[in-house]
Amino acid sequence: MLYNQVQDLKGNIRVYCRVRPHFPGKLSSSTIECFDERTITIINPSKHGRDLEKTFTFNKVFGPSASQDAVFSDTQPLIRSVLDGYNVCIFAYGQTGSGKTYTMNGPKELNQQSMGVNYRALSDLFSLAEQRRGTFSYEISVQMIEIYNEQVRDLLTNDVPLTLITLDILNGSQNGVNVPQANLVGVSSTADVIEIMNTGQRNRAVGATALNDRSSRSHSCLIVHARGKDLISGTMLNGCMHLIDLAGSERVYKSEVAGERLREAQHINKSLSALGDVISALAQKNSHVPYRNSKLTQLLQDSLGGQAKTLMFVHISPEMNALSETISTLKFAERVS
Ligand code: ADP
Ligand code: MG
Repeated sequence: MLYNQVQDLKGNIRVYCRVRPHFPGKLSSSTIECFDERTITIINPSKHGRDLEKTFTFNKVFGPSASQDAVFSDTQPLIRSVLDGYNVCIFAYGQTGSGKTYTMNGPKELNQQSMGVNYRALSDLFSLAEQRRGTFSYEISVQMIEIYNEQVRDLLTNDVPLTLITLDILNGSQNGVNVPQANLVGVSSTADVIEIMNTGQRNRAVGATALNDRSSRSHSCLIVHARGKDLISGTMLNGCMHLIDLAGSERVYKSEVAGERLREAQHINKSLSALGDVISALAQKNSHVPYRNSKLTQLLQDSLGGQAKTLMFVHISPEMNALSETISTLKFAERVS
């Protein structure tokens, strides 16, 4: 199926909602009253009458039992368009613990069934590139970076300790690489991809202690470059895909934290609202799109808007104690769609 056949009339931005299952053995009442293919209804027991329930509409809703395979199959057409030279961005948004890393990477124990979007996307690119062999030749390479406190770190490095690199923004550069200092690694098989992901995950963990798991407070970004050559016409195609596991969207109150934790929270807040502003400006077809307000949106300037295609997975936790974050996540989603 071609991407354009499934594209919504709204344009190039799609928002999918995914609900995490309850944790096994933990009893908790659910905030999810019901859901279907496109809507989800949340119950808020502190409200009455008409406000007791609220329904949100998405391009697609994935319930707690949706498999990784089912989630990916709807994403597949978008990924394929990368080989046609389009830029694509896929985000995982939601509070910490809502399933962002599960969607993008998978659970801790990875196997063929549990692999997330990152692995499936690359695996798909390889098989599609192979099918086009004879007409096209493709080179696929990846970078993996982390944005933490508005600073960019290369995750595909063997340097210890990891050095912070400065994000030089070369938007519109002819090869589409806008973080030139970050290692660019050629990949041609799923084994290569697994190795890259292991290196990236290992580096992400550096500096994190049990009490200070930084991964929920940084954005991690797998950048895939697909350079294709049409062997008949000689035309070059440059597609780029950003696969982003965003920092946790939970609100942190000034009264609750101080020091480093407050600084982190302010940076996350700033970059997630900058992202929301950019996507909603694009969705509303505003003439001014405020890309320059955060490192994240600067990084994505070539890949959000124009011909680029965007997919946001918003994740929600079903537990009643997550209700206020669930509502704020759904409101964010409403704003960008
Ligand atoms: P986040 O990255 O948003 O902080 P995680 O992806 O780490 O959240 O998910 C939190 C926990 O819930 C993990 O143990 C993860 O394996 C589990 N989990 C998340 N989503 C699902 C799902 N759809 N099915 C089964 N387990 C899930
Ligand atoms: Mg995570």
